Amino acid sequence: MSEVVISAKSVGKTFGSGADKVTALDDVSVDIFQNEFFTMLGPSGCGKTTLLRLIGGFEQATSGQILLEGKALNDLPPYKRPINTVFQSYALFPHLTVRQNITFGLEMQGVARKQADDRAEEMLELVRLAQYGDRVPSQLSGGQQQRIALARALAPAPKVLLLDEPLSALDLKLRKEMQVELKRLQTETGITFVFVTHDQEEALAMSDRIAVMKSGEILQIGAPREIYEAPTHRFVADFIGDSNFLVGNLVDDGAGKRAVKLGGGQVIELTQDVSSQRSGEVTVSVRPERLGLVAESQAGDNQLVGTVSTVIYFGTDTTYQIDLGNDALLTVRMQNGSGAKADFAQGERVGITMSPDSIRVLAD
Ligand code: ATP
Repeated sequence: MSEVVISAKSVGKTFGSGADKVTALDDVSVDIFQNEFFTMLGPSGCGKTTLLRLIGGFEQATSGQILLEGKALNDLPPYKRPINTVFQSYALFPHLTVRQNITFGLEMQGVARKQADDRAEEMLELVRLAQYGDRVPSQLSGGQQQRIALARALAPAPKVLLLDEPLSALDLKLRKEMQVELKRLQTETGITFVFVTHDQEEALAMSDRIAVMKSGEILQIGAPREIYEAPTHRFVADFIGDSNFLVGNLVDDGAGKRAVKLGGGQVIELTQDVSSQRSGEVTVSVRPERLGLVAESQAGDNQLVGTVSTVIYFGTDTTYQIDLGNDALLTVRMQNGSGAKADFAQGERVGITMSPDSIRVLAD
């Protein structure tokens, strides 16, 4: 396991006082590792920018601590931290050339002119803009300006680079390109990237680990696959990808294993480790692509059955809405051309298949 670079220990942050008091962060703890692409993901107002600003030193925590390599950062001002930030607005100096934009900070830190110039060339190579050193920012496209902002932030070789929604000003195509580019820069430099976004696809595509935030709290931290396939909370399952939610009861399957009994009576043994302390009604989440359909005549005893209410053909897959009765709808996504029958018609009665490992029991 690599070393922890940044630790947040029970960090709280409030703004204002009295009736205007806002809790931006509530008892947040997280360890971020060396050489990690770490993303804080959540909807507007969940506190992700505040956490980033605390790490950068632009705000002070109301309670708890931020540590860098085990040492409390406390009142250390931003410029004394080996941490740099790339803002959404790029914040390049308009009257300086690209090269000067990069060398400026280095020279302020006392790096000799020649060395700063060499470093600038190295950084321009890194972001693949070696021939643009003599231009001024207004002569560059948005994507190029973004790369220069990155080159400038990476030039002093910070231990941590903070990125606050750096791609949100770019159009979709450029954004996708820059996602790949950012990932490459992180891997090549080995610098820890702490990235803030509200875009779940972006988070899944780039991150080693994601912290999903809601209302000032971190709900789940994990690798993209873990967050997607094993969401712990309804909010996480809903915010990242599509999910179906079913209500069932936790039971023992008779062989000492934990299982969920769904509304129709179907009992599904769980592969998930659910505490023996839990019992009674639970909500489970299941991804649409982890469900399948069979003709009703092939459905087993107690298997969930319903009526196809909508069919949407997407080329690679077909998405079905299944009406289970009592206003309960289920979304099922089946790959086309995979061999399984995937051409059910509107109005057809169908049985729903699901494998045990597709079912996730959510936290209360
Ligand atoms: P967004 O994606 O919209 O930037 P966010 O998840 O980054 O949202 P924060 O900017 O961290 O959220 O804000 C968290 C909460 O703290 C919000 O309710 C916000 O209004 C509040 N907040 C942030 N900064 C301040 C401030 N300087 N003064 C008062 N309230 C603030």
